[in-house]
Amino acid sequence: MAPERHLSYYSLMDAFSLNCGCPFCLIIEKSMIKYFDDLLYEGVNSVEIAKELSKSKGFCKKHAKMLLDFNDALGIAILYQRILQEMMNEQKNIQKNISEIQNKYCPACKAEKELNERYAQIFIDFIDEFLQKFKNNGFPFCFEHYNLIIDKLGRMKTQKVNEIKTIQIKNIKKFLVKLDNLINSYNYQYHDKKLTEQEKIAWIDAVEIVSGKNIGKKRYKK
Ligand SMILES: [Zn+2]
Ligand SMILES: [Zn+2]
Repeated sequence: MAPERHLSYYSLMDAFSLNCGCPFCLIIEKSMIKYFDDLLYEGVNSVEIAKELSKSKGFCKKHAKMLLDFNDALGIAILYQRILQEMMNEQKNIQKNISEIQNKYCPACKAEKELNERYAQIFIDFIDEFLQKFKNNGFPFCFEHYNLIIDKLGRMKTQKVNEIKTIQIKNIKKFLVKLDNLINSYNYQYHDKKLTEQEKIAWIDAVEIVSGKNIGKKRYKK
């Protein structure tokens, strides 16, 4: 049976149309903002979430930083009051390996991992439609998401792998022109040349293509 187009399909299609970053990073960021919005809106008093967060000793560093972006003083205070109280009660066990525990059990990491899987699967289910967008849009995938997709497709033994590789390389080359224009704009000989908005932020995009988008609420690009 052919897979159905659900809301997530259209959200991913939108991210592929934006041309301002790896589409998977964009959709994950948007989804994680919703995750924290929901958590702060209705999860603060949830017993289940309290249990999860006490097991993980709060969020990992990356997601703790994202949580702080929300500036929700009351919600965060209530969540962390409970975590701190629990940690105080079992103090002898918590002195070491705290970041290891957080990285292993962080509920936001788990949510992010599930989102990555879900959107990678939607991409694969409708691969021809997404490849068309990927070709036209012209923004490369970040390496993390590129590898995730290549891995999944590799296991399916499909020819699409080569097609994606070709488009990815083409898109990176296209991007390198923007980066080059940005660098050249610092040379007085080129001073007259106006940079496009995309060229102005190419230094940020370069880091995000290599390392993945540093997701956060404040920097969400519409
Ligand atoms: Zn990405
Ligand atoms: Zn995390």
